[in-house]
Amino acid sequence: MNLNSPVETISFEGHTLFLKRDDLIHPDFSGNKARKFYYFLQNDFPDVKKIVSYGSAQSNAMYSLSVLAKMKGWEFEYTVDHVADYLRDNPHGNYKGALDNGMHIFVGRGVPSPIKDVLHIEEGGRQKEAEYGIRLLAKEIIDWQKENNIEELNIFLPSGTGTTALFLQKAFVGEGTPRHTVFTSPCVGDAVYLKKQFLELEKDEKQHPAILTLEKKHHFGKLYKENYKIWLKLQQETGVVFDLLYDPLGWRTLLSHPEVLTKPILYIHQGGVLGNESMLPRYERKYGV
Ligand SMILES: *Cc1c(COP(=O)(O)O)cnc(C)c1O
Repeated sequence: MNLNSPVETISFEGHTLFLKRDDLIHPDFSGNKARKFYYFLQNDFPDVKKIVSYGSAQSNAMYSLSVLAKMKGWEFEYTVDHVADYLRDNPHGNYKGALDNGMHIFVGRGVPSPIKDVLHIEEGGRQKEAEYGIRLLAKEIIDWQKENNIEELNIFLPSGTGTTALFLQKAFVGEGTPRHTVFTSPCVGDAVYLKKQFLELEKDEKQHPAILTLEKKHHFGKLYKENYKIWLKLQQETGVVFDLLYDPLGWRTLLSHPEVLTKPILYIHQGGVLGNESMLPRYERKYGV
C-alpha cells in the first residue's frame, strides 16, 4: 500500500492546481474508501468473521469492502434493493469486481441486525471509524505543505455522504499553521442534505467544511452532457482519469467559484475509477465517443 499518496501539479482551464492522487494508493484498495476502511485493515478483530453492509449494486464502497474482506479472510454479505437486469446478466465494474472477490449478494432482504462475529458497515462507509484513516490523509497534507512552504491552502473534494470532507476539516482544526480550508460540493443530495450529514457526525459547525454549489439541480447517477464533457477534457489536459459520478460535478462546481482558486488549491482524487466501467458505456451510447 502506497499510503503516502503523491501530490502532482496539474493545469486545467488555465488554472494551476495540486492533485492528491489517492487513486494510486493501491490497485484494488484505493481512494477515500481505502482511507475510510483503513482502520479495519490495520487493527485486529479476532471475533469478526464477516462484514455485512448494504447500498447500491454499483457502489465504490461495496467493491472496497469486498477487497477488505478478502485481505482479512472474512466473508462479505451485501444487501441491495435492486440489481438492474442488464447488470445481473452482464456483470461489470464494481459489481463484477466484488463478486469476483467472493461477495454474497442479497436482493431486497432487510439488513440483518448486529451480532458478535459480524462487522456492520454503514452505507458508503459513513461511520466513526472512518476518522482514523482520514486523519492520516490530513497529516500527509500538512507534511507536504510544510515541505513546500505553502502557508495557506484551499482543499477541494466532492462529497457523497460528506464523511471524508467532514473528518478532513475536523482533523485540521486546532493545527494552527499551515492553514487549510476544506471546500466540498454535494453530489448525492443538495446542500441542505449535506449539512445534515455533517451535523450527524459533528455538532460544532465551526468544524464543518465549506459547501459550494452549482445553480442548477443535479441528480446523482444521471447522465449530463456537461459532466461527460468536463471528464473528457480533464483527461485530455491533465492525463488523469477521474471518476464519472462525483468528479465531473466537483470540478464544475469548483471552477464556478473562482474566489476559491485565488489561493493554492489541492484537489483530492478519491478513486472510484473502476465504477467508470458502468458509466462510460452509458455516456458513449448517449453522446458518442
Ligand atoms: C465514495 C466516494 C465519494 C464520496 O465520499 P463521501 O465520504 O461519502 O463524501 C466521492 N468520490 C468517490 C470517487 C467515491 O468513491
